[in-house]
Amino acid sequence: MSASHDPASRRCRLTVLSGPSGVGKSTVVARLRAVYPTIWQSVSLTTRRPRPAEIAGLHYLFCAEDAFDAAVAEGQLLEWAEFAGHRYGTPRAPVLERLERGERVLLEIELEGARQVRAAMPEALLVFLAPPSWEILAKRLTGRGTEDEVVIAQRLARARIELAAAAEFDVTVVNDDVHQVCERLVALMESVEDGSTPPPDL
Ligand code: ADP
Ligand code: 5GP
Repeated sequence: MSASHDPASRRCRLTVLSGPSGVGKSTVVARLRAVYPTIWQSVSLTTRRPRPAEIAGLHYLFCAEDAFDAAVAEGQLLEWAEFAGHRYGTPRAPVLERLERGERVLLEIELEGARQVRAAMPEALLVFLAPPSWEILAKRLTGRGTEDEVVIAQRLARARIELAAAAEFDVTVVNDDVHQVCERLVALMESVEDGSTPPPDL
């Protein structure tokens, strides 16, 4: 068996997808879930309230503040951060179990969390999802219709900080077309795993 076909010799299978609120991360993740079900997607713990279409256990593990405090105190989280008034974190154990089994693992998290993963697991692939333009980002965030004006303003302020940090990531992918973004992500994962040069933009 050649090195690239031996699962044990595969390089890191952890991918982090980050980018400003409204850029389309959840949309990309939902498509990946449907088209590439073998990519395991971490389910984050959050103190945010569920949105109408969100399913507990699938989109998030919704919890109260004290349960989040306990998860932090017990070292259960691989990373965590506060975002627009709520806390979000990645449960550590399921991620490590999947990686040990050789599965592909995807985290969809914000900038501070991506930095923590970079520090803890420098071999992870960090992908920044960027909007085609600032105007399109603002339109997507507003058009989603899930936040009020105050929260949208908070998220747009944070988006400026996140956009300024794009260079910290291994690669930036522009979310023009969700299908193309997913194909690009999978191509990037494959190139990391077999140590080849990532293909040019699709
Ligand atoms: P995020 O998870 O990054 O906050 P969402 O996935 O909720 O963003 O997307 C924000 C809005 O933008 C949603 O209404 C979604 O349908 C829309 N959207 C996402 N990707 C695209 C795209 N490539 N083209 C047009 N609209 C998009
Ligand atoms: P939303 O409230 O829109 O679902 O998520 C707000 C932000 O939190 C998004 O940027 C999303 O990527 C991020 N996020 C979701 N889960 C986690 C997590 O486990 N850790 C961190 N650091 N950020 C997360």
